[in-house]
Amino acid sequence: MDAQTCIKKLGYVGVLNFATVDEHGAPQVRNISAIHYEEDALYFFTARGKEFCKQLLNDGRVQILGYTRYKESIRLSGRAVPVPDSEQGKWIRTIFEEQPYLENVYPGDTKKIGIIFCIRGFSIEYFNLGVNPIFRETYEVGDGKEERKGYEITETCIGCGKCLKVCPQKAVEKREPAPYRIMQEHCLHCGNCYENCPKKAIQCRL
Ligand code: SF4
Ligand code: SF4
Repeated sequence: MDAQTCIKKLGYVGVLNFATVDEHGAPQVRNISAIHYEEDALYFFTARGKEFCKQLLNDGRVQILGYTRYKESIRLSGRAVPVPDSEQGKWIRTIFEEQPYLENVYPGDTKKIGIIFCIRGFSIEYFNLGVNPIFRETYEVGDGKEERKGYEITETCIGCGKCLKVCPQKAVEKREPAPYRIMQEHCLHCGNCYENCPKKAIQCRL
């Protein structure tokens, strides 16, 4: 898996959840399908009067989630900015040509109420629950930064093996001498090892 394949898969899903934060810091989520996909950027259309647009202009942070029929969750985190005025028309035409239903929603000149945002520089978290063991990976595109999450075993591990016994995915690697190691690509982030370690040798990176 890689970032470009993830972007293609988001395109196949087609209708994505876009989450923003409003002026009170509350989460807001909606479905968006008026999206054009590039290898390293997403362009999308909304209307200037929508709360969504105001939240993007005020804050810009956006998280996008798509879920495939193969139990793959793809989460893209980045910052959306309006494209320059000189490029607005070009991207509106591109998105309306790719998705003709939009002409029915914003016919003729009414589409001029639209605004195109671009997300360039983001991280993508890929999480596949349809394979055994489960698989996850994170990718950075442009200046996007991966957020470190999950659990890791520290030097105080005594190698008792309890974490391996309680791990639903057997994502703990036995190592001698200790410390054991969590295979991050197969970890659910469930916390069962953390709760059961007798030496409190596992730390949470959340
Ligand atoms: S339960 Fe804790 S001490 Fe035991 S092997 Fe796992 S991390 Fe190490
Ligand atoms: S967080 Fe859950 S899945 Fe990950 S290593 Fe610990 S017990 Fe296993």
